[in-house]
Amino acid sequence: MELSGLQIFKYLPAAKKAEHTNCKECNCPTCMAFALKLAKNQVNISSCPYVPDELREKFLYSQKQPQKTVEVNGLKIGGENVLYRHEKTFVNPTSLAVILDLAKHGWQEKLKRLENFEITRLNEKFKVDLVILKNCKEELSTNLRTIKEEDFLNLPLKNAGCKDFKTTLENLINIRTRAIKEKNENFEDPVYVYIKSGKDLKDVCAEAGGYICKYANMIIFEDFDEALFATLITLRQNIFTDPQKPLQVEAKIYEFNNPDENSIIFMTTNFALTFFAVANELENLNVPSYLVVTPADGMSVLTAWSAEKFTAKVAARTLEKFKLAQKVKTRKIIIPGLLAHMKKELEEEIKDFDIVVGTVEAYEISNFVKNM
Ligand code: SF4
Repeated sequence: MELSGLQIFKYLPAAKKAEHTNCKECNCPTCMAFALKLAKNQVNISSCPYVPDELREKFLYSQKQPQKTVEVNGLKIGGENVLYRHEKTFVNPTSLAVILDLAKHGWQEKLKRLENFEITRLNEKFKVDLVILKNCKEELSTNLRTIKEEDFLNLPLKNAGCKDFKTTLENLINIRTRAIKEKNENFEDPVYVYIKSGKDLKDVCAEAGGYICKYANMIIFEDFDEALFATLITLRQNIFTDPQKPLQVEAKIYEFNNPDENSIIFMTTNFALTFFAVANELENLNVPSYLVVTPADGMSVLTAWSAEKFTAKVAARTLEKFKLAQKVKTRKIIIPGLLAHMKKELEEEIKDFDIVVGTVEAYEISNFVKNM
């Protein structure tokens, strides 16, 4: 575990009211300031000549990376620091790799399917992370990230696979736990598991899902299936989000179904989950519409309102910035039902539009629009 500023401070002269208290030799105004900066790695521990050996040892141990990071043509594997995402964050998503055996019949078709596979989830584009080339004697021309099998086997990665799913999962948990808790060098290499061909797709999905949750750094598949990869990538994206960074979309005016100057206008904040819920409804409505998305640091509407990230002024500024009043003849903006209490406030600030209170839930939008 990393040391906090307070834990560091306990070892410094100021905490013991000893000689050199707040002497500033480290270029910090106080020992406490030094401790806080050291906890964030903003100063070098050697800047203070009075750090006791015990603190130096503890600090160096706390800095030791529990799991190595291995890089393959820009793909980062491993480098994890925690057992649970809420402790800090997971660093590098489980890589999903596929074996391409050039000695096997039909490899060209498999390569084409791998090349054509791309999905977009929450504004991120995903492809297969790595293709491991088996029996590849010459360079293969492809836009995918590839590595020859013999080079892959020389990477400092360990195969964590055991005889069945249960023991493999137990092995993965044991390796990660010992790497993180003990910082044991025998467990510091990132790990992969291998899923052989010919298994039932549902079983493969459940098995790989388990390995993504706990704690494979890479899964290598002998077979490739687009639906399986789309499912696993979606699961992986949920697990490898940074809990300290809310998912957000760009604050701007989004258009659905070719809107014109008479189209209806909705407004919400840039919290990704709210945005996609509303955007899906608007897209499926088959009614031309605009969605004004205000900047709110990725907060949902009520959180943004309580944190003063969604205010009447912010809403007015967003409309001004994108010159919506000049673009449309519509003079009504539909706000989320959860912000009904802001109607008057918004009307005072937004002179060009009337404010209409919309629905609390996104799924109610369709009925709301039909009844308008
Ligand atoms: Fe405190 Fe050491 Fe900095 Fe002096 S050099 S202020 S003792 S942290």
